[in-house]
Amino acid sequence: MDWPNELGTLILTARNPTESGDAIRCAASILRAGGLVAFPTETVYGLGADALNAKAVAGIFAAKGRPVDNPLIVHIAEASQMESLAQNIPPEAYLLADKFWPGPLTLVLESRPAVPPETTGGLHSVALRVPDHPAALALLKEAAVPVAAPSANLSGTPSPTSARHVLDDLAGRIDAVLDGGPSGVGVESTVLDIRNGQPLLLRPGGVTPEEIAFILGRECPQAYWQENMSEPPPSPGLKYGHYAPKAPLYLVRGQPGAVLDRVRELRDYFQTRGDKVGLLLSRESAGDIVSEYVEILGDRKDAGELAANLYAALRRFDQQNVDVIIAEGYGEEGMGLALMNRLIKAAGSRVIDVE
Ligand code: AMP
Ligand code: MG
Repeated sequence: MDWPNELGTLILTARNPTESGDAIRCAASILRAGGLVAFPTETVYGLGADALNAKAVAGIFAAKGRPVDNPLIVHIAEASQMESLAQNIPPEAYLLADKFWPGPLTLVLESRPAVPPETTGGLHSVALRVPDHPAALALLKEAAVPVAAPSANLSGTPSPTSARHVLDDLAGRIDAVLDGGPSGVGVESTVLDIRNGQPLLLRPGGVTPEEIAFILGRECPQAYWQENMSEPPPSPGLKYGHYAPKAPLYLVRGQPGAVLDRVRELRDYFQTRGDKVGLLLSRESAGDIVSEYVEILGDRKDAGELAANLYAALRRFDQQNVDVIIAEGYGEEGMGLALMNRLIKAAGSRVIDVE
């Protein structure tokens, strides 16, 4: 068969479920043989390998340059597969799986010994999710193995929301990419520790803590950890600075009017220095601010739209080689929590609060 390829990475097209059978079968056979296949999910593109094949999983870490103690999310085709990978599963996990799977919720559970330490980062827990994407589900069913898959980007860069983004980072480093069009949610899944039945939010994402609290009938607190703490983080991911564009990003938080004033001041300051300034704004704010490099994420009140467009916008700034990015901050209700979590990580220490 004559598949297109880039630097030796096969590009398999699976945009239309009825015409994608060959592409899915090809991708599945690569996974079963221990290869690496990037595939679309509703959150971002994942870089998949057979989760029970330690050597294949090691290949993911090598391709991404990912720290080996940062465990991977294992993707399954249906909730019934939970029991072959996890044990002592509390009833709350079944409730959440029933409500949110397929969907952007990852459940951390006690792992079974069959799951190799390469996949769990040496922890005794395993992270599981059923993705809500027709190509991902078809691939998981056809491969008939659980598939470990972190985001399909080089470690530390913004996650990929299209096959193009995957190839920009990983062409020649992975066997294939399954192109299923752009990812709809645009930020990674919510990661929730539910081992003892008490929900603990490890990473905000596509399912909000309000939705989880509603289903369980109890609060869903967020894990807190800072670098100077003596105990290890509740999730290894908390200690890594993710999601960063190449240029330094300044995030301005506060009331919209004051935020806009500060964004203008910063733009003027950097432009006077001769910098190429990228502005990351809502549609409302972009109407009020003039600049050559503007990325509009969406309506200020629609955190889902803002989040869906975030990573592609950061990658365009990378391509334009801007010297600095100034980003507007948003409220943390609903999907705003995941959006602001990614923006704060992208900003590192450059978060500016205005009155
Ligand atoms: P990524 O695959 O790049 O979206 O990242 C997966 C996230 O889930 C990382 O932040 C991991 O640290 C976290 N994670 C995966 N497995 C576990 C686990 N067993 N316990 C706690 N956090 C986990
Ligand atoms: Mg990632």
